[in-house]
Amino acid sequence: MATGSRSTLPKNAPSLPGIFTMRSRTDADNFKKHIPKNAHVVVVGGGLLGLEMAASLREIGVKITIIHRVSRFLNRQLDPLGSQMLHEEMVDQGCDIYYNDEVQLYYGRSKLTGIELKSGRRINCDAIILAIGTTPNIELAKETGLDCKRGVLVNERLQTNDPSIYAIGEIAEFEGTLYGITAAAEQQAEIVAKFHNGDISSYYKGSLFMNIIKIHGFDLCSIGLSECPDDQNYEEIVFIDKAKRYYKKCIIHQDRLVGTILIGDKTEFLEFRELIANKIELSDKRLQLLRSGKKTEPVSGKLVCSCNNVGAGNLLKKITSGCSDFKELCESTGAGMGCGSCKPEVKLILQEALKEEVLEKTN
Ligand SMILES: Cc1cc2nc3c(=O)[nH]c(=O)nc-3n(C[C@H](O)[C@H](O)[C@H](O)COP(=O)(O)OP(=O)(O)OC[C@H]3O[C@@H](n4cnc5c(N)ncnc54)[C@H](O)[C@@H]3O)c2cc1C
Repeated sequence: MATGSRSTLPKNAPSLPGIFTMRSRTDADNFKKHIPKNAHVVVVGGGLLGLEMAASLREIGVKITIIHRVSRFLNRQLDPLGSQMLHEEMVDQGCDIYYNDEVQLYYGRSKLTGIELKSGRRINCDAIILAIGTTPNIELAKETGLDCKRGVLVNERLQTNDPSIYAIGEIAEFEGTLYGITAAAEQQAEIVAKFHNGDISSYYKGSLFMNIIKIHGFDLCSIGLSECPDDQNYEEIVFIDKAKRYYKKCIIHQDRLVGTILIGDKTEFLEFRELIANKIELSDKRLQLLRSGKKTEPVSGKLVCSCNNVGAGNLLKKITSGCSDFKELCESTGAGMGCGSCKPEVKLILQEALKEEVLEKTN
């Protein structure tokens, strides 16, 4: 079972044109049709999806107000300083922001015309996007009699309490955690596939939490822990340049990197991800953690991977230099190594390029 999840709706949300969630292409198309020129849109939820939507809409001139229930953005993925820098970025992009508030009333008869917040503030708007989280689609699993809590409970083989039924992706709850990221869904799928192919040694041990915000011109990502659980056993290595909005934080536990926040430059995302995921001992490397100075290749051609800033041109360059293996192409360019959602596009570019090469050779 891999039935995914749907957008969570607040209990008091009416069914009124102008109230949107953003899950599918259809949602986006309907939203686009609805908003007038110079629209004012309220985004509810300062998580990844809400902030990415807000920044994209600002880019095309839409007036944006963000309502966030708690006192800082990405409160689960960032520490307070990281959230502060993200706040400053969103303010610079021209967003109005209200923290510690929620929508209480929706105004409008045939379509939404405004909202009222719990604090009493009234905001006139053309549309609202609700991005307050997701609800796993576990109804079918429940009807089937499978054990469920927030998600469908699975063991380290991704088996439910009925061993012939597996659950993966956004519905799978493993040791109390639902992941909700593409990388976890892919890892889980691989374990199930391997098991069915006769490999009985593969077990799922959980996935690494990682988040990359996709905002044009602003780099931000976090992997693993964002704050030290305690000061005795964990150490922080931090570099901050507030004026340049640059922040790099590494959390170390027993000489191993267990978490990082990268703001202003995410070129080390892949390297740090490997260090964290593979629990590699740092020893001398520890000294280099803050001294990257790595040069990145500028994006060439149409942007394909927005996690690691890789364009179609960068991929083609690699392919013409002799790379014909999909995995190698991803690893050497960084494409598909973040959230993984661009992998089909990368594969297509590789296939097309190889096809052309063959045609050229035969002509
Ligand atoms: C707008 C958006 C942005 C995202 N951005 C990121 C990101 O940047 N990074 C990241 O890692 N992850 C991101 N995600 C999350 C990522 O897409 C999911 O974690 C991943 O797709 C999980 O896969 P899944 O198979 O569990 O669910 P899905 O990909 O949602 O697939 C579930 C499928 O099951 C179908 N289905 C549901 N019920 C039934 C049923 N009863 N019978 C048959 N079919 C059914 C659904 O229609 C759907 O097609 C994003 C998700 C969304 C919506």
